Amino acid sequence: MQSFIPPNRLLMGPGPSPVHPKVLEALARPTIGHLDPEFIKLMDSIKELLKISFCTKNEVTFPISGPGSVGMETAIANMMEANEKIIVCQNGVFGARLKEVASRFGGKIVDVVDEWGKAVDPNKVEEAFKLNPDAKILAFVHAETSTGALSDAKTLAAIAQRYGAYTVVDAVTSLGGVPLMVDEWKLDAVYSGSQKCLASPPGLSPVTFSPKAVEKIKNRKSKVVSWFMDITQIIGYWDSNQKRSYHHTAPINSLYGLHESLLQIVNEGLDRSWNRHRRWHDYFAQKVSSMGLEFLVEPKSRLPQLNSLLVPQGVDEAQVRTTLLNQYNIEIGAGLGPLAGKIWRIGIMGQGANGDPVNSVVNALKQCLSSEATF
Ligand code: PLP
Repeated sequence: MQSFIPPNRLLMGPGPSPVHPKVLEALARPTIGHLDPEFIKLMDSIKELLKISFCTKNEVTFPISGPGSVGMETAIANMMEANEKIIVCQNGVFGARLKEVASRFGGKIVDVVDEWGKAVDPNKVEEAFKLNPDAKILAFVHAETSTGALSDAKTLAAIAQRYGAYTVVDAVTSLGGVPLMVDEWKLDAVYSGSQKCLASPPGLSPVTFSPKAVEKIKNRKSKVVSWFMDITQIIGYWDSNQKRSYHHTAPINSLYGLHESLLQIVNEGLDRSWNRHRRWHDYFAQKVSSMGLEFLVEPKSRLPQLNSLLVPQGVDEAQVRTTLLNQYNIEIGAGLGPLAGKIWRIGIMGQGANGDPVNSVVNALKQCLSSEATF
């Protein structure tokens, strides 16, 4: 048996994205105790950096120990009680996962379904509220990674507010890559992931809950079904105003990594990070269009950080991905569900949103497509 030495891949798929060398360096620093006063200082700093990244003053803002899916379950488990009505927007894999999670926690689901590749239609959401004025929550995915569609979180949240409902927002792929204004848009429970535009490894899910959301959680009739995800318990560990008490053993080194990646974004400037994602997406779009490739998503709802390209007729979709991986060390993603075999998903996320990575994937794709072997 030998140590595992991973190949040096360029990660241009739907996540994980390339991890900044400074983040890798931070991950390798000595592990200290999860209640060490120095570690507590780091936790406070992570919370501050996350507040800046989420554009919020929410006190309840911290990373959940677990991937984005745990953030999703945490948001639903805390915000919703069994038998509450929840409107769940589904325009891809992650909207469908939200529905599955909400139904497992006993929610009465109202479906709002849009075609994969399209943004969530606000008119359908309005209609769903008209027919279900007793709906307590609206849940939707801001940036649908399975298709590359960006939904209008501001407009959707405004509809929910008009009907007195709370919002649960999946920002796994949007945080750091496109504007996400938690306070300005009055979003209630928002969760993200470390491995997309934050450029950290997978395994942490930053969350933020508005004071209104925390009030709802505190006034629940029933206990949160999951002990691990009950934020009123976790907050005893993360809240600076409380005596830090043991909840679970935090993933110390992963938090070093997250802190470093958040520093990178905040030092760069959040709007500069958004602009960088947009700029390299525009460059990529112009290059692939000149190669005759087309996007699944129409320009107005196209995510800069997740580019779904239609596989041209006669091209072996899987073979291109295999060639990119084996000959060029570049990972891109396949289509999921109804889009399997029909699209490639190319991430321009975090450190991937830079000239070298984008040029590498464009050039490798060009060579693959011009090679007879891939047809
Ligand atoms: N939501 C969205 C939009 C995602 O893209 C993902 C993962 O790709 C998830 C949720 C789940 O995150 P994870 O795979 O970290 O559990």
